[in-house]
Amino acid sequence: MSDVCDLRDLLGTLRAFAIPMRTKFRGITVREGALIEGPAGWGEFSPFPEYGPRESARWLASAIESATVPWPEPVRDRIPVNVTVPAVGPERARQIVAGSGCRTAKVKVAEKGRAESEDAERVAAVRDALGPGGRIRVDANGGWSVAAAARMLRRLGAYSLEYAEQPCATLEELAELRRLVDIPVAADESIRKAEDPLRVRAAGAADIVMVKAQPLGGVRAALRVADACGLPVVVSSAVDTSVGLAAGLALAAALPELPYACGLATMSLLAGDVTAAPLAESGGELPVRRPAVDPAELARWEADPEPWRRRALAAAAYLDPGAGAEDRA
Ligand SMILES: [Mg+2]
Repeated sequence: MSDVCDLRDLLGTLRAFAIPMRTKFRGITVREGALIEGPAGWGEFSPFPEYGPRESARWLASAIESATVPWPEPVRDRIPVNVTVPAVGPERARQIVAGSGCRTAKVKVAEKGRAESEDAERVAAVRDALGPGGRIRVDANGGWSVAAAARMLRRLGAYSLEYAEQPCATLEELAELRRLVDIPVAADESIRKAEDPLRVRAAGAADIVMVKAQPLGGVRAALRVADACGLPVVVSSAVDTSVGLAAGLALAAALPELPYACGLATMSLLAGDVTAAPLAESGGELPVRRPAVDPAELARWEADPEPWRRRALAAAAYLDPGAGAEDRA
């Protein structure tokens, strides 16, 4: 992006979408966002509704990168992914795992209003469905106190967990918990911007960090964050369409090490896609590819682009003029 003219050209290509979700997520029932097209392909700009222009600028930088520069060279062509088990009963949990090709399951726990025994029954059912060779991670979305997390992780440790994702809300709590339990801790909600993984590491708050391409400002920015942080990373989506998922796959494909299955099998959360060949999990993996936007699919979900064009222009005021310049040189 050399100047504002280029940005205006890109925003001239902007198309907006509104795709219903199969499962309510982050309180939303329709995933809304925009797509822009440039010389390198399509990019997705889909910050969540409550994000203001400053925070949305990183999402815009990611879309601009996708549209204007080729992604880094991949070092792998398939990405292992996890199946996600929401806070459902044990029978449903078993069905979800059995119906997926994934050997890793992420089990949601610590949901408000549910008994600890329900979490234990759900994790037990998932272990049963996966067998001893499968991997289980739990995701508490910051819902436990330190005491509850220590108690529950000791209890759930009986089913052999690979890690616990955001067991508590704050860095201080995560650091305290890490001194109490042996199960590795992964930071997710604690990481919303590029500086956060370094703060997480400095606080001794996690063993693993979750990274997402859009919120961190694109594939290259996320690679720099992962490198600077020095902790193992798990790439996950922001519940994007296949256009945004392709950027997550490019990130996972370019990381020097990828020790864990990624959270990119989220296409199943959406009732539709903007491509004719969605990036849907098969055999526990996603292929590293970039499906083209399909005009007929996009037309099914198309929404008014004007609010999104205004949102992108407002976010553009906060784009870091230096960021990524070396990549485009
Ligand atoms: Mg999470």
